[in-house]
Amino acid sequence: RPDVEDVRVILTAERRTRRIVAVGSGKGGVGKSTLTANLAIALKRLGHSVGLVDADIYGPSQPTILGNRGQKPEVSGKKLVPVPNRWDVPVLSMGHLVEEGAAVAWRGPMAGNALTQLIDAEWGAIDTLLVDLPPGTGDVQLTMLQKFKPSGAVLVSTPQDLALIDAARAGSLFDHAGVPVIGLVENMSGYICPHCGEVSDPFGSGGVEQAAERLELPFLGRIPLALGIREASDAGTPPAARDGGQGSELAAPFEAVAA
Ligand code: ADP
Repeated sequence: RPDVEDVRVILTAERRTRRIVAVGSGKGGVGKSTLTANLAIALKRLGHSVGLVDADIYGPSQPTILGNRGQKPEVSGKKLVPVPNRWDVPVLSMGHLVEEGAAVAWRGPMAGNALTQLIDAEWGAIDTLLVDLPPGTGDVQLTMLQKFKPSGAVLVSTPQDLALIDAARAGSLFDHAGVPVIGLVENMSGYICPHCGEVSDPFGSGGVEQAAERLELPFLGRIPLALGIREASDAGTPPAARDGGQGSELAAPFEAVAA
């Protein structure tokens, strides 16, 4: 027989509303997965219980960024059980389901079904599910919006990717689906030289904030282009965790966006 405390915990968990926050971008390679992983960890450190779905079905990178490559999710009943990691941010990714290096060449409906399996899983008592969307607007994004309407979306762009963001009218996909855009994040904004600390702007800087103003959307912050962020992502120790040996200056920008 479960004791009273167990029942209370179960009921609280069931009553708790789980919000889904989608993280999207106009194109690939702008740091959407990096941002999503670090946001998840920063939110966790702020006291939220967070799960992460890597919906980038054709190019999953969360197992590498979160350092749990090669682990397979368990199955409970007909549902997948998210894969744990050392930051207590359970994650489900196609990268955990297919053999490493195997190419996923699915047609739309299969990709949509895979997404359903990842989201409709045994997430337990989490309050926030971050979904790392594939870049652009395709079948996976449509399934996501139609079947699991997110509470909001965060859009990430580099300063030079602006034209694309504008072209996509900063998430008209989300607008059409009635999903509010929580705000825009500028990634790779200002390069911090690892030798002298000088900041330069290979991709420009500030453009995303201006776009946000123009589109009357909130601007959530900028993440610098830093060698340490790339190294930490490849090593599976996201800077926001503050335990990978990187300086806290790399954690702070992610924490600011999460706040
Ligand atoms: P996306 O999910 O948009 O395709 P990723 O998050 O996979 O992009 O990032 C693409 C590459 O850029 C990765 O190698 C990642 O480590 C690197 N990267 C992302 N953001 C930064 C940054 N702020 N500074 C340095 N490297 C970055």
